[in-house]
Amino acid sequence: LRALRTPTARPAARPPRAADGDVLLEATGLTKSYAGADGELPVLAGIDLKVRAGEIVALLGKSGSGKSTLLRCLAGLIPASSGSVAYRGEPLTGANPGTAMVFQTFALLPWLTVRQNVELGLEARGVPADERARAAVRAIDLIGLDGFESAYPKELSGGMRQRVGFARALVVEPDVLMMDEPFSALDVLTAENLRGELMELWESGQFPTRAVVLVTHNIEEAVLMADRVVVLGSRPYGTIRETIEISLERPRDRNAPAFDELID
Ligand code: ADP
Ligand code: MG
Repeated sequence: LRALRTPTARPAARPPRAADGDVLLEATGLTKSYAGADGELPVLAGIDLKVRAGEIVALLGKSGSGKSTLLRCLAGLIPASSGSVAYRGEPLTGANPGTAMVFQTFALLPWLTVRQNVELGLEARGVPADERARAAVRAIDLIGLDGFESAYPKELSGGMRQRVGFARALVVEPDVLMMDEPFSALDVLTAENLRGELMELWESGQFPTRAVVLVTHNIEEAVLMADRVVVLGSRPYGTIRETIEISLERPRDRNAPAFDELID
């Protein structure tokens, strides 16, 4: 009887909270090529990158410069061709347990409600149903979607769908939140509002993550949000030759003006 009552799938114990400055992600000599019709297409070469607790890092580059490829390598979704990626000093052998991803086109499952979509990440990590539901409702509230738990994606605007994308990533409280052009499918005003709200959450310490990697081709967005910008060059044929790191003194007031102020 006791055996029956023992929960079987407990989530793995979380590592202790990282202190600011601790290296969470580290790519060393990272190279990535894709197999193409004419042999290997090199996309990333010799990437050295550290992501530390407490910082927002932007990966900035033109379309095709390998931003998404680098993000996927850091998240352990695709393997590096050579070099290594480590999470908290441990080389990755598969999906990175310390990251969760927000996608440009939201990637919601249309047949699931908002809450069910948000619970997906927890399901994959073996969290029991009642805990999943509680955590999902918390993440949905945090991201400003309370009242929409039972809605389906098609009933929501683009901005609200991306909020679901954020809630689904934040619900697992990843050490590092990975975002791949999360605002570029949204109209300018919606994007600005969402960016502003996220930055407020981040700065108020309510964001349940320790670092953020933001992929963008938008220089303004990188400068507004990031502490550090890593520029991916792409010459020739998309081969990365160097990264340039720019440390930023973030502007003091970079909250987006409220919607009604903008249209006054
Ligand atoms: P970015 O996100 O900066 O636009 P990507 O990482 O998506 O760049 O792509 C970099 C290069 O790699 C592009 O030339 C793209 O066509 C190529 N590429 C991306 N994914 C694949 C893939 N799965 N197979 C083959 N080539 C790919
Ligand atoms: Mg991309």
